[in-house]
Amino acid sequence: MSSIKETTLEINLAHLTHNFKYLKSKVADHVKILAVVKASGYGSDAVAIAKHLEKIGADYFAVAYVSEGIVLRQSGVTTPILVLHPQPVNFPKLIDYQLEPSLYSFKTLKQFIKITSLLNEKHYPIHIKFNTGLNRIGFGENDVDLVMEQVNNTDAVRIVSLLSHLAASEDHDERDFTIGQINSFKKITEEMSSKLGYNPIVHQSNTSGILNYPEAHFNMVRTGIGLYGYGNEAKYDHELKPVASLKSVISQIHRLEPGESLGYNRAFKATDFTKTATIPIGHADGISRQYGNKKGFVTINNKRAYILGNVCMDMIMVDITHIECKEGDKVIIFDANSNAAKIAEYSGTISYELLTAISPRVKRTIIDEN
Ligand SMILES: *Cc1c(COP(=O)(O)O)cnc(C)c1O
Repeated sequence: MSSIKETTLEINLAHLTHNFKYLKSKVADHVKILAVVKASGYGSDAVAIAKHLEKIGADYFAVAYVSEGIVLRQSGVTTPILVLHPQPVNFPKLIDYQLEPSLYSFKTLKQFIKITSLLNEKHYPIHIKFNTGLNRIGFGENDVDLVMEQVNNTDAVRIVSLLSHLAASEDHDERDFTIGQINSFKKITEEMSSKLGYNPIVHQSNTSGILNYPEAHFNMVRTGIGLYGYGNEAKYDHELKPVASLKSVISQIHRLEPGESLGYNRAFKATDFTKTATIPIGHADGISRQYGNKKGFVTINNKRAYILGNVCMDMIMVDITHIECKEGDKVIIFDANSNAAKIAEYSGTISYELLTAISPRVKRTIIDEN
């Protein structure tokens, strides 16, 4: 057990190993695992997460932007890194750091071929993204011939994978739509593979796709939220364990008489005697204002303490009228028992948003029980 002395995000690597193995057990042996470590590893610590996953056998990494890939390379990560949404202005840097672009339009494909040709690159690995219904980024179903025309004209690049992204794999009510996306991608990738004359890596599943759609595993799956151990809001059964726990300590305790108010704008007014605890975490740390006014809660000595009044930039105040506690006592914002997905749902958001909002100002501690 660690002793918490300030607001801390604990990152449990044993839980990460558990989740990786669990997800791996859900796919066939030949299916590669791509670990999504964008947005600082979903708000945790991308470098610590990637280094650990590299050790336990992740086949690929993905980040959203080139800058995120550079951080991993500079820390010594050597596994291939797919950049899901590179901006053409960063292509030279992407190449410098041996990152691999997902190309999603003729403009990005042509620009990448042009720059790799100028650099005399041979068979630089690229990934072609197809849109099958999310309608966010990607080539269309009818673009296969034009994509082939571009890549057949050069040996500067080589297509190592074909990818698409599911729009609603967590939603059982959208089953027909998702099956449609899978079938459409199957058709595209068969056509592409036969025209290429080899079988590139094919991947479409995110975490809920892994758990809900075995027919969409192809020969690689991408997982983000599953590795970090959340999925309640994704409506599937799982045995995932939360990697990140957010903890803090009580700074001070106040006693309010009826009529007294608490915090900015006097948003809370005591009608009865109320005991409150002030905790050093606020909206600048990622606890958004929507958790204020009794929507969000923390756990102190195994009891729920609701946030009273408005969330401040650096602090929250919680109701401890019925909780025995003192200055310096541990406060749990979320952990394995008080799940981030559930807390996020209470305040009308999802665990992805809660986790990725935890700001760099919050201390990160790696717990490696091995
Ligand atoms: C973020 C992202 C993922 C990971 O999704 P999870 O639901 O977190 O598993 C996979 N693929 C793409 C294209 C993404 O942007």
